Amino acid sequence: LVSRENHPERSTVHVGGVPIGPDTVTLIAGPCAVETHRQTLEAARMAQAAGAVLLRGGAFKPRTSPYAFQGLGEKGLRILADVREETGLPIVTEVVDAQDVELVASYADMLQVGTRNMQNFALLQAVGAAGRPVMLKRGMNATIEEWLMAAEYIAQRGNLDIVLCERGIRTFETATRNTLDVSAVPVAQRLSHLPVIVDPSHSGGRRELVLPLTRAAVAVGADGVIIDVHPHPEQALCDGPQALVGADLGELAQVMNDFPALL
Ligand code: PEP
Repeated sequence: LVSRENHPERSTVHVGGVPIGPDTVTLIAGPCAVETHRQTLEAARMAQAAGAVLLRGGAFKPRTSPYAFQGLGEKGLRILADVREETGLPIVTEVVDAQDVELVASYADMLQVGTRNMQNFALLQAVGAAGRPVMLKRGMNATIEEWLMAAEYIAQRGNLDIVLCERGIRTFETATRNTLDVSAVPVAQRLSHLPVIVDPSHSGGRRELVLPLTRAAVAVGADGVIIDVHPHPEQALCDGPQALVGADLGELAQVMNDFPALL
C-alpha cells in the first residue's frame, strides 16, 4: 500500500489543511514537551515567526528514564488545543499507548508515533483506524524496509495519510545523539509514495547541529522538517539542549525561504 510500485505519483498528506508533500518543504516546530500554557504559546509564536505552519508538542512523552518528566497527559492536550485556537496552527502530538489513541485523536490534527514505538504493532493498527494523519518516526534501530513495513500496518487499517520521519539512527558514533541518515530520505522517497520529513533536533541532540542538519535535510529533498523550539531551554523539562531559541529563528526562516536555492 505504501510502495511506489503501484502508486508512482508521490503523495501529499494534508494536516488541518496544511500540505506535506513533494511541492514544498513544510516547517513543523514547537516545544519538545508541553509544560505550561504560557511556554507552549510562546514556543508556538516563535515557531510561527520562523515560518512554521504546524505546531509540534508532546503531552505524552516516551522517556528513556521512568524518573524523567513523562508529560502532562490530557492537560497537555488541552493546552495544545487552546494554543491552536490562539495561533491557528494545527497540532502534531505523540501517542505512546494504543489505549490513548482515541483520546489523543480527539485533540490532535496529526498523531505522531515515536522512534521507540515504530514496531508497536497494536499502536500502529490503532492509529491506522483513528481517522487522523500519522507521522511515523523511524525506529532508531530500524532498517528502511522495517520502517516501510511499519507504515504498511497503518495503511492496512485504511489510513494512507502517513508521513515518514527520519530522526537519526544508532551507529558507533557518540558525538551526536543519533546519526542523521540523510540517505534515508531519497531512498524512502524512491521506495514509497509517502512524504518523508526529517527531525534534525532529535537526531543531533544539540542546538548547534540543528540548523546545519536542517540545511542537509532540505538539500537532500526532504518534504519537511520538525524542529524543537523553546522560549527558555535552560528551564525545559525535556531536551532543552537541542531546542532552538529566539536568536536562531531568523536563520531558520532564512534556510526555509532559501530552500529552492539549495537544490
Ligand atoms: C519527539 O519528537 O518528541 C520524540 C520523542 O522523538 P523521537 O521519537 O524521535 O525520539
